[in-house]
Order: sequence, then structure tokens, then C-alpha cells
Amino acid sequence: MIEIENVRKSFGSLEVLKGINLTVQKGEVLTIIGGSGSGKSTLLTCINGLETIDAGRIVVDGTDVHAKATDLNKLRRKLGIVFQQFNAFPHLTVLENVMLAPRKVLGQSKAEAEAMAVKQLTHVGLGDKLKVYPNRMSGGQQQRMAIARALAMSPAYMLFDEVTSALDPQLVGEVLDTLRMLASEGMTMICVTHEMKFAREVSDRVAFFHKGVMAEIAPPETLFGAPKDPELQNFLAATH
Ligand code: ATP
Ligand code: MG
Repeated sequence: MIEIENVRKSFGSLEVLKGINLTVQKGEVLTIIGGSGSGKSTLLTCINGLETIDAGRIVVDGTDVHAKATDLNKLRRKLGIVFQQFNAFPHLTVLENVMLAPRKVLGQSKAEAEAMAVKQLTHVGLGDKLKVYPNRMSGGQQQRMAIARALAMSPAYMLFDEVTSALDPQLVGEVLDTLRMLASEGMTMICVTHEMKFAREVSDRVAFFHKGVMAEIAPPETLFGAPKDPELQNFLAATH
């Protein structure tokens, strides 16, 4: 379970998160939508401890992310994160890219890491690309490799930050299909996305962020079907 309690975060004089309260249960798929600069990415980076917070608490399976005593490296193994842009190691094959963290961070043997990497790459439909170099793949394939790389660490949670935003439109579908597959398998996920159709289909709940406030949170049928917050109504009118 991820518990976010009254989290506040400022960059200088700009308050980017203005008291966020949110609990994500095991097995839940939560999507976050909202305009540019509303604090969506900042929240994800606070959840995995890449950013500090100014007030409140974020607790992942009982561990306070920002407590001094917390072993952040250990915590981050639980939280797979995939961003809009994926920085693959260009001189390593797809298989080697996915094996790297399990070898270095988890201390897995080569055989163990390779077996896991093959399994996860096959799972995301890249079983035939093991020996290929990343720059020889499409953007959609590279994003699926990024997902496989995160999954190879056996995370309890996956955080996705607009993983399809940098892709050509015809490549978006294959990455969304991979996310749908993970959701159907029961992976606990927080997905920041601009893909409203996807959000409507896969989410247990959808949260709308506006200027650092979680202005509305509801199951997709309610949030899209009967939005209450005026800013959400405007946002949906503009994105449809
Ligand atoms: P987008 O949809 O454009 O990705 P977002 O909802 O993810 O937007 P954030 O990236 O969380 O928005 O940014 C929220 C605000 O915080 C923005 O005004 C941004 O410029 C600012 N911000 C984010 N990171 C930093 C930083 N490291 N230093 C200073 N300001 C930052
Ligand atoms: Mg963002």
C-alpha cells in the first residue's frame, strides 16, 4: 500500500504540491491526469524518494520514504519507475540493458539475471530482440524494453510517467497494450497519462490534478461521466 498524507512540496516560492492525500491499495491501478505543471511528475518523484517533501508523509508498505533511517536504495527496488524518455545504454544489447540492474543492485548471478531478463523481455513482446542494440529499435520497442527493465527488479509497484508522450502516434498502442497487460495481471500501478481512453479503460480510480491540488478522484465512469470540479470539466472539454 502507498499512503500519501498531506504532502506539500515547493520549488523555491512555487508550491507544486499543496497537501496531497491519497492511498493506493495493492492491486489497484490509479491514473493521474491534469494539465502541464499541475504536479503529477513531482508526486511520482516524491513517492520513490528522488525528491524530498516539505510536509506530510509518504509511506510505502509501512516504510516512511522520507524518514532519515530509510534505506532508499532498498525502498526503490519495490518501486519500478518508467519515464517519458528512456536512457538505454547504447553500447549494451537489449538483454544486457535489462540484466544490468539485477546484476549490480540485486547481486544476481549472470544466469539468474539473464533468465529474468529473457522472461520479462518475452513478456513485453521483445523475445526476438535480445541481441539487438537499443538504437536499432523503434520508440515503442524502447519503451517496452524500459518496462521490462523495471519489471526485472520484481517491483511491488510500478510508476509510469507519460510513457507514451514522446512516441509517434502509431507506436502508442503497443506500449498501452503492455500497460493493460500488467494491469490485468494485478500489478499495482500509478500511471500519469494524457491518454484519456486508456485511463478510462484500465483505471480503478482516476485522479485529476490542478495547480498542485488533487481536485477530484473517482472511478473512471464517474470522473469522466459526471465530472464535478469545474477545472476538470474544462480539462476534459479541451482534451476530447
Ligand atoms: P507535465 O504534464 O508538463 O509533465 P506535471 O504535472 O508533471 O506537468 P511537474 O513536472 O510536477 O508537473 O511540475 C510542477 C511544477 O514544478 C512546474 O511548474 C515545474 O516547472 C516545477 N518544477 C518541477 N520540477 C522542478 C525542479 N526540479 N525545480 C524547480 N521547479 C520544478
Ligand atoms: Mg510531468
